Amino acid sequence: MGDGFPYPVDQTGNFAAIQSANPTLEQLRPFGYAPGGYTMKCPACQGQVHGVDKRAWRCWQCAVNAFRAEEAKPPAVREAEQMHATLDRLTMLRAFQGARRLAKRKRDPNWVFAMEMFGLGSTYAWAMCKRMGLDPDSTSADQQPASDKRVVG
Ligand SMILES: [Zn+2]
Repeated sequence: MGDGFPYPVDQTGNFAAIQSANPTLEQLRPFGYAPGGYTMKCPACQGQVHGVDKRAWRCWQCAVNAFRAEEAKPPAVREAEQMHATLDRLTMLRAFQGARRLAKRKRDPNWVFAMEMFGLGSTYAWAMCKRMGLDPDSTSADQQPASDKRVVG
């Protein structure tokens, strides 16, 4: 105390200090940065970056900038963007699962259901089930976990 330091960052209410704190690694991950053992060229600033994860697509500074830009958006804009991102992620699988839940013909295997839903022949409908990660013979539209792939029998 009394050393004359003008901006005591440890005191509550010093919002400037709180806002300028760097985002955590967890917060930066969705913005393209994670530490790791790889080197890449940052597509945003063209800089050569060392020590990034192999799936990183921004350097630390560019990810921080993107994080700050996102933070600065009004909540209504952020909510609208989130909604469109959710709608963009809708897939054939999601549509198929929804249709199965709504349908009265619960006993049809997935491949028969897919024939009707997508207007396909049996071979293509079978392949469509496989493509969606579904067991064509099952009446359930739950995806098969990877461990469920039968090795024996
Ligand atoms: Zn960069």
